[in-house]
Amino acid sequence: MLRVQGSNNDGVWNRQGASIRLVIRPPFWQSWWFRTIVSAAVAGALWRAHHRRLRRAARRQRELVEAERAAERERLIAELAAKNTELERFTYTVSHDLKAPLVTIKGFLGLMRRAVAADDGERVESGIQRIDDAADKMRALVEDLLQLSRVGHQLGPRATVPFAELAAEAVELVAGQIAARRAEVRVAPDLPVVSCDRPRLVEALQNLIQNAVKYMGDEPHPRVEIGVRRDGRRKDGGRVFYVRDNGMGIEPQHRQRIFELFQRLDVETGGTGLGLALVQRIVELHGGRIWVESEGLGRGSTFCFTLGESSG
Ligand code: ADP
Repeated sequence: MLRVQGSNNDGVWNRQGASIRLVIRPPFWQSWWFRTIVSAAVAGALWRAHHRRLRRAARRQRELVEAERAAERERLIAELAAKNTELERFTYTVSHDLKAPLVTIKGFLGLMRRAVAADDGERVESGIQRIDDAADKMRALVEDLLQLSRVGHQLGPRATVPFAELAAEAVELVAGQIAARRAEVRVAPDLPVVSCDRPRLVEALQNLIQNAVKYMGDEPHPRVEIGVRRDGRRKDGGRVFYVRDNGMGIEPQHRQRIFELFQRLDVETGGTGLGLALVQRIVELHGGRIWVESEGLGRGSTFCFTLGESSG
């Protein structure tokens, strides 16, 4: 509102004055509507940017999960392929190892038939012996396969047992072979108590003692020792159990291989090559590890194993 008052030349003031109403409009950028529009536009842009960021993060997350899944799928496929190859090799070797004695049996039956016709008692007798040996071979393989499948991938319930009892039981099961080889077996007196699947661990010890006696070579004083030693650096209570022999020993380059299925170094001595694979599986199911130490050929072998932390 602009008010004016005036006076004439005589100094008489007009008391009332005159006024005009002036309205000053603010520039449009200060107007409420402009501010509202700008605020809304800024808020909208921020909101869109935020959502774009969220969407991008979600997409990245999805891509990461997808990549992880793809990698896991690849790993599983590779694992499956390896298992498949192993199974094929396993089936092939089992079939081959079962077929070989069967061929022997068939062959000697033919020979014996002719020997019987010719009344050749000596050849009949030797034929029977060869057939008997071949049947033993088949039985050993089938028994080892059954043992391996029984162990499977899981242990039975654990029991707390003095290791000395397990050793005595295993030695008893190999008594025939020990006596035949006139081997001396020593069991250490300081063996601890362990928590284990008793029948499985006895089976493992039985296999190790059997091997110790079987792979003696021509040692005149065969000796097998079963014991435990302390290795302070180990996590699992530092206990390393061992079965030691003074037999033919094992060269360094074979010390890993002998634990694989069907791996045999000595083809002269009958064996299936499954024994140590079985022992390794049993030890590993107990959470332990197995390895062999040997000074070299002709200087004996020591099969060492641990039983994991929960077996104390
Ligand atoms: P096998 O049925 O042939 O005995 P294993 O798996 O028990 O099968 O043993 C694999 C190979 O390891 C044997 O063929 C043998 O050559 C070697 N081996 C195992 N134990 C001993 C040992 N105590 N001394 C020397 N060699 C051994």
